[in-house]
Amino acid sequence: MKPKQSLVVVGNGMAGMRTVEELLKLDRDLYDITVFGAEPHGNYNRIMLSPLLAGDKEVGDIMLHTRAWYGENGITLHAGDPVVKIDRKRRFVHSQKGVEVPYDRLLLATGSSPFIIPVPGHRLPGVVGFRDLADVDTMLAAAVQGGQAVVIGGGLLGLEAANALQRRGMHVTVVHASGSLMNQQLDPPAASLLKTALEDKGLHFRMDTQTTQILGTRRVEGVRFADGGELAATLVVMAAGVRPNIALAQSAGLHCERAIVVDDTLQTYDPRIYAVGECVQHRSATFGLVAPLWDQARVCAGHLSGAGHRRYVQKATPTKLKVTGVDLYSVGDFIGGPGTEELVLRDRRSGIYKRLVVDGSRLTGAVLYGDVRDGPWYFDLIGRQVDIGSLRHGLLFGEAHCKQGAAA
Ligand SMILES: Cc1cc2nc3c(=O)[nH]c(=O)nc-3n(C[C@H](O)[C@H](O)[C@H](O)COP(=O)(O)OP(=O)(O)OC[C@H]3O[C@@H](n4cnc5c(N)ncnc54)[C@H](O)[C@@H]3O)c2cc1C
Repeated sequence: MKPKQSLVVVGNGMAGMRTVEELLKLDRDLYDITVFGAEPHGNYNRIMLSPLLAGDKEVGDIMLHTRAWYGENGITLHAGDPVVKIDRKRRFVHSQKGVEVPYDRLLLATGSSPFIIPVPGHRLPGVVGFRDLADVDTMLAAAVQGGQAVVIGGGLLGLEAANALQRRGMHVTVVHASGSLMNQQLDPPAASLLKTALEDKGLHFRMDTQTTQILGTRRVEGVRFADGGELAATLVVMAAGVRPNIALAQSAGLHCERAIVVDDTLQTYDPRIYAVGECVQHRSATFGLVAPLWDQARVCAGHLSGAGHRRYVQKATPTKLKVTGVDLYSVGDFIGGPGTEELVLRDRRSGIYKRLVVDGSRLTGAVLYGDVRDGPWYFDLIGRQVDIGSLRHGLLFGEAHCKQGAAA
């Protein structure tokens, strides 16, 4: 029997482990696999940290690969032991605890870290990002005491954290630098409906507000803003974006720009080293949702297994918010530009808003609030670049309406 090659995976998160799963489906016997994870757990569904924080899930519910799973699949797991150095000449990785493992192929899947705004006081206890189980533990410990939480950032993560903390009994204020919530995914009318719905749930907002200082001596006591205003706080959650974890790759001399640069096969500039997930940059894009990572995992596993005919192609990814009772869906270019047209349906009393962006005979973007049933249909029309000429008059009323019209 041919001796197995060594595959080392750095990062025991969603993209890295999905790639390992895909690889096992293609060829179980090609590699001895070693996985290093900075976190002291098996691999869990990071998306589900929001329902976990809100109390809708338990830790056991969100585990994807328990520690036992690695053993059962012949994989060596070093959890709680980050890789600190890659020796590309000798083809070894070195971990913080002093473990050294040689590799024939190396997969980097180090994800991102929350961007902690470097204002004075940002290192005080009680200031936390929202990325992992340890962050959730910190937030839950604060929530047990009740008190006031300030969430900096009114994007997807900030709003999910705010909603969860409010449900855990905290008084929560979301501070957002822009005048419109989720401004990367929603247009102002949809964002305004969202804000009203969240206010009805008991959340408070300070829009167009810059944070200049975290107040406190031993731990966080409050937040100061550029307009001179202050808010008392026992917990500050920074949800102001993420930064890809690229320090390890950079120190190994791999080409990085905003993230680790990969080609269509997910290979870095070193042909023995691949990268997937939020730590990568493909062309000029970086990634923050799981759907593109699943595609990357499939392509990368194909190449690692030697069946190298797959290519990674970027696609539009829809966004949803995991807040019970708030239905929104956004995909593609929902703002539009010169030469595009917009189709809008607005029913304030029912809380329904739909905006479709059309470029010539193609749908290029959709933002839906209140009634999101047709989101996947619009997503499909965008993805397949369907000629919507014959559907246009009924497009806003959805798939069922258009199909009925066609049958009549
Ligand atoms: C609260 C929350 C809610 C989200 N909700 C959604 C959602 O609804 N829909 C959606 O599509 N996406 C959502 N996401 C985003 C999604 O979780 C990420 O896109 C996905 O987890 C990225 O996978 P990854 O493997 O690149 O990074 P990660 O899952 O972060 O995994 C990277 C792992 O590598 C480890 N690591 C880093 N450096 C090293 C090192 N040197 N050595 C060893 N290990 C290292 C990290 O500790 C981490 O465990 C959410 C994210 C969060 C935090």
